[in-house]
Amino acid sequence: MKKFADIIINIHSLPTEHPFTYLIPEHLSEIAVGCRVLVPFGSRKVEGFCVRLHNQMPDTNTQLKTIIKVLDEQAVLTPELIALSTWAADYYLCKQVDFLAAMVPAKGRTGVGLRAKRVKTAYITEEGFAAQPKGKKQALALKLLRQNKSLTLSRLAQAGVSSATVRTLAQKGWVKIARRQVRRDPLADLEVNKEEPIVLTEAQKKALTCINKDVSQKPFLLFGVTGSGKTEIYLQAIAERLEQGEASIVLVPEIALTPQMTERFVSRFGDLVAVLHSRLSAGERYDEWCRVANGEALVVIGARSAVFAPVQKLGLIILDEEHESTYKQEERPHYHAREIALWRAKWHKATVILGSATPSLESYRNAQCGNYILLQLPERIADRSLPSVEIVDMRQELKDGHKSIFSRTLIAALQDTLQKKQQAILFLNRRGYATFVLCRECGHVMRCPDCNVSLKYHLPNKELCCHYCDFTAPYPDSCPNCRGRYIKYFGTGTQKVEAELCKQFPGIRVMRLDADTASKKGQYQKVLGSFKRQEADVLVGTQMIAKGHDFPNVTLVGVITADTALNLPDLRAGERTFQLLTQVAGRAGRGSLAGRVVVQTYTPEHYAILAAKNHDFEVFYAQESKLRLELDYPPFSFLIRLLISGENEGQVINACYFLVSALADSVDVLGPSPCPIEKVRGRYRWHILVRGKELDLIRRSVKAVAAEFSQSAFAGGVRLTLDVEPQNLL
Ligand SMILES: [Zn+2]
Ligand SMILES: [Zn+2]
Repeated sequence: MKKFADIIINIHSLPTEHPFTYLIPEHLSEIAVGCRVLVPFGSRKVEGFCVRLHNQMPDTNTQLKTIIKVLDEQAVLTPELIALSTWAADYYLCKQVDFLAAMVPAKGRTGVGLRAKRVKTAYITEEGFAAQPKGKKQALALKLLRQNKSLTLSRLAQAGVSSATVRTLAQKGWVKIARRQVRRDPLADLEVNKEEPIVLTEAQKKALTCINKDVSQKPFLLFGVTGSGKTEIYLQAIAERLEQGEASIVLVPEIALTPQMTERFVSRFGDLVAVLHSRLSAGERYDEWCRVANGEALVVIGARSAVFAPVQKLGLIILDEEHESTYKQEERPHYHAREIALWRAKWHKATVILGSATPSLESYRNAQCGNYILLQLPERIADRSLPSVEIVDMRQELKDGHKSIFSRTLIAALQDTLQKKQQAILFLNRRGYATFVLCRECGHVMRCPDCNVSLKYHLPNKELCCHYCDFTAPYPDSCPNCRGRYIKYFGTGTQKVEAELCKQFPGIRVMRLDADTASKKGQYQKVLGSFKRQEADVLVGTQMIAKGHDFPNVTLVGVITADTALNLPDLRAGERTFQLLTQVAGRAGRGSLAGRVVVQTYTPEHYAILAAKNHDFEVFYAQESKLRLELDYPPFSFLIRLLISGENEGQVINACYFLVSALADSVDVLGPSPCPIEKVRGRYRWHILVRGKELDLIRRSVKAVAAEFSQSAFAGGVRLTLDVEPQNLL
C-alpha cells in the first residue's frame, strides 16, 4: 500500500494548479488513482481528485494532512482521462481541474459520493419453501416468494405485505433480507424489436470497407447528403469493432438525441448500449458510467460530454453532424468534442468517423490537405431524390403589394400539400410572437435592462421576454420614453407563424416546437411523435426540428426567412446559414413521396442561399474559402478569443487596453471592441481576437498575458475568459 496521494483540489479559483500531497490513512487502502476524495484544505473540507499514489515523502516543512474519505464507490476517472485532462488544459488554456470536474459522471452534493443503488430484498430460504405459516399475511408473503424466489421489500409492500411481516419471517429463518443492487436504467421504458443490418448500397459498402480497414489511422470525413444512410454505416462499423471486443463512442448533437435515434442503436446492440446525456438523473448517469467503465456496455451514445466516457478498449469514435456548433462547450472548460475525440483515438489507436451532410470548413479543408480521408455518399438511399428548392425574393413580394409573412409560392405549396393530405414543416429560427417592440413616435425599442438586447413579445401572457436572462415585463400601454401611444410589436416569431397559419387556413392542425413548448419534460418527444402519427398538418419550429428526424409524410418544407442567421455579425454566418438550410431542406421527401422546399429571403443572391438551393457544397466551400482566405480567418488561421466582462464598463475597457499592450508584437490582434451582444445579465462584454498561423505560438502569447492579467489590479473587478478556436463570436 502506498503512503501518499497527490490530490488536485476541486476549486476553480485556486491560483495554483499543482496537486497537494496528503497522507493515506490505513482504513482508506482502497483508494485508487481517479478516485474523488474529501480532504481538509485550510479550515474547510473540500473535494479533490486523486491523480497519483506514491511513497516519496514530499519536501515540505508543513505537517501533511490526512484524507478524510474516498467519495465514490468506484474510481470515476481512468489514468487515460487524467492524462487527457492535462493535455486539454494546456490546449484550451484553462485549468486541469475544470476538465476533471467536467469528466465526472455526475455532481452530487459536496462530500457525498456516487454509489450504486441497493434496495432491501427478501430472499426465500429452503426452510421457507417447506414452512407452513399461520398468519394470512405471512402465507401471502411466502406464496409470492416461492413464485419469485426474491422480491424487494417495496414490491412486497405493494402486494400488501408489511416490512414487519417480512422481519417476522426472517426471524423464523424462512426468508433472508439483504440489499440487492438495482440498475437505474434510463432506457427501461424503451420497447424495441431486434433489428438486423440493412443491405448497403455500393457507395455505403465502399465507405464501410475503408473504415474497417483503416490503413492510415487518419480520421475519416464521411460526407453524405441528407438521407444517404450514414447511420447504417455507423452501426455496421460498430458491429465490426464489437467482433474485435472493442468499444465505440457515438456522439450526436444534444438536440438529435431523440428516443428514435437511441432506439435504433438498442434494437441492433441491445444491452451493450449505454446512453450519456444531460437529461439523465445523477444516479442513472453514474450507473451507465460504471457499465461503460466495467466493460458491460460497449456502445456509448451521447451528447458532447460523452466524449469522456471511461471506455477501456476504444475501437471507434463517431461524431455525427460534426459541423454542429453544439460540440463546442460555451462554458468553462471551452473544449471542442472533435479535438478531444482525436486525442483519445490516438491514445487507443482507434478509428474516427466525422459524419456530415455539410462538413465544417475546417474538416473539409483537412480532407483536402490530406489530414483526413474523405468518404463520399453522393446519393440518397432507395433512389430518393433530393428535394427541389425554390427561392422566393421577399422584396419582390412586397413590391407586388403582397404583405403576408407567407409568399404566394408558399401559400400555393401549402394548399397543395394540405389537399393531398401530406404534411409540411415551417422553419423559423426565432421564438416568441414578435421579435421587437418599437415606439413609432420616438423610435424607442424596448430592451432588457440587464442585457441590452431587444425584448421579444410572447403569447399567451402578452409579456415581453429577454432571451438571454429570465427578465419579463408586461406589454406597455404607452412608450416609457415619450409616453406616446403608438408602441407596437414588429418582426416574426414562431408564435406569429402559428397564428397566421390558423388565420390563413381555417381548420388547419398546427403544432409548434421551440424552446417555449419543449421546456416541459417529455414535451419534445410528445410533439414529434404526434406529428409523425400525422395528428397535425403543419409543424412550426426553430432549429429543434432541423435535424435527425424522419417524417415520411412530409413533402413540403418552408423556410420563413433565411436571413436570420445570415445577418449575425459572426465569421461563420454564411456557413451556418448554408448548413441550416441544407439540414432543414433535408427533412423533405424522406419517404417514398418527393419533397419540395420553399426558401423565403431578402437576399436571394447570397452564395450561401444559392448553393443550398442547388445542394452544392463544393460551390459553397469554394466561395466561403475564398472569402475566409482574403480575410485571413479560420480555417486559414487560428483564433483565440479573449472575452472581457465586468459590471463597470470603464474598467472593462481599461482591462482590454492593458491586455492588448501586453500581447507580443508577433501576434495579430483584432480589437478590442464591444461584443455584438454588449451586455448580459448586467455585465458589459468586450472582446479581443488574437490571430496567427500557428496555434501554439498564439497560445503561448495569450497564456503569458493571462498570467500577467491575473496578477494585475484588474483581476478583481473584471473577468477574463479565454476561448481557443471559438465557434461563437457574439
Ligand atoms: Zn416613444
Ligand atoms: Zn436579459
